[in-house]
Amino acid sequence: MSENKIPYKIYLEEAEMPKSWYNLRADMKNKPAPLLNPGTGKPLTAEELSPIFCEELVKQELDETTAYIDIPGEIRDFYKMYRPSPLVRAYCLEKKLDTPAKIYYKFEGNNTSGSHKLNSAIAQAYYAKKQGLKGVTTETGAGQWGTALSMACSYFDLDCKVYMVKVSYEQKPFRREVMRTYGASVVPSPSESTEIGRKILAEHPGTTGSLGCAISEAVEVATKNPGYRYVLGSVLNQVLLHQSVIGLETKTALDKYGIRPDMIIGCAGGGSNLGGLIAPFMGEKLRGEADYRIIAVEPASCPSFTRGRFAYDFCDTGMICPLAKMYTLGSSFIPSANHAGGLRFHGMSSTLSQLYHDGLMEAVSVEQTEVFEAAEQFARVEGILPAPESSHAIRVAINEALKCKETGEEKTIVFGLTGTGYFDLVAYEKFNNGEMSDEIPTDEQIAESLARLPQI
Ligand SMILES: *Cc1c(COP(=O)(O)O)cnc(C)c1O
Repeated sequence: MSENKIPYKIYLEEAEMPKSWYNLRADMKNKPAPLLNPGTGKPLTAEELSPIFCEELVKQELDETTAYIDIPGEIRDFYKMYRPSPLVRAYCLEKKLDTPAKIYYKFEGNNTSGSHKLNSAIAQAYYAKKQGLKGVTTETGAGQWGTALSMACSYFDLDCKVYMVKVSYEQKPFRREVMRTYGASVVPSPSESTEIGRKILAEHPGTTGSLGCAISEAVEVATKNPGYRYVLGSVLNQVLLHQSVIGLETKTALDKYGIRPDMIIGCAGGGSNLGGLIAPFMGEKLRGEADYRIIAVEPASCPSFTRGRFAYDFCDTGMICPLAKMYTLGSSFIPSANHAGGLRFHGMSSTLSQLYHDGLMEAVSVEQTEVFEAAEQFARVEGILPAPESSHAIRVAINEALKCKETGEEKTIVFGLTGTGYFDLVAYEKFNNGEMSDEIPTDEQIAESLARLPQI
């Protein structure tokens, strides 16, 4: 193996790191549908969005024509502390699978937050600081986004208020302490500190909270406190834009060795890591310069692409956020509590939804026991303990490599390894004890929540 020309890790020099983000929408013929104001049913304007989001981020959200947007120097400097992230040739996994396929993964878990989310958190914190704001609010479920945002806010000396779903707050005390170490205030949601929180607590005493409810609280605090704005870690166009750094680095690294992937695989929750990883490749595909198979992998327990409907829907369960046109299971859809692997959002980025709708990418769903089997197999040969979310991509990469073994095809597979699983050991414990099972929603359950889609 040692005489192989391609190194185990392809690193980039600082000078080779991207200087701009790539805005995929600029090359899309069919643009993603605009966010709508739920009150009027009309596209949201910059004026309507600016009390909620930072000015520069509103601009990025609405910009569907500028292909390249400069990454400000201060953000590039921060990126240099933990990027470029390695693109790894999975020689050991290939050997173990005895496949002629060539497998590469882009590893985003090399920072304290343990995931790709820091790429957008630092950008959002930077623009908030530049606007002279005092701080930002957000929600977090499992905690990766809250952790990334607290790191970014402490770097720019911004106040950071995180509404953390109460059940996670209680069950994931270590995540909470990482956030507090970076100076964030972490509030279990629902809380007594907001109007909506008090209302929910009065109606459902003893509730352990939900992401939708935490979003509602974070938005309320941002809009009621001067000098605060709300930030979100996935789904939005601006987040996909920032995450394009993943794909741009991947493309530069592959190009250095003349490697052309046949397929690019990523897990899809709200779509930000996948949207970022595929951005420059999809750009080539849209411009007719190259062709790739692009595969989104989602959990069978929350299958927005594969079983959802392409329609306008609320982004939150509280039904206060803008309407987005996306593949959705309905904002009232809640994946089974049995599901341990993240990627629980009911909808999907509107950019990826449009691309999927136009037949430019594929989607598959996988069950969690097979996801954890792949995670374990990967950990044992490649050394990294993967996040359950990332392991969805590992599962399908392994499946594709095994197909190559049967056909003898030497395909090149690139997948996104979005993060590490150190805070997911309760799920690993369940798997190791043989107590993990699969719960897939019935057609009736999905139809029921789809019946409650807003009428547009
Ligand atoms: C949040 C997260 C995801 C899913 O979010 P996307 O916006 O779909 O990328 C995937 N992997 C990890 C490790 C995460 O933290």
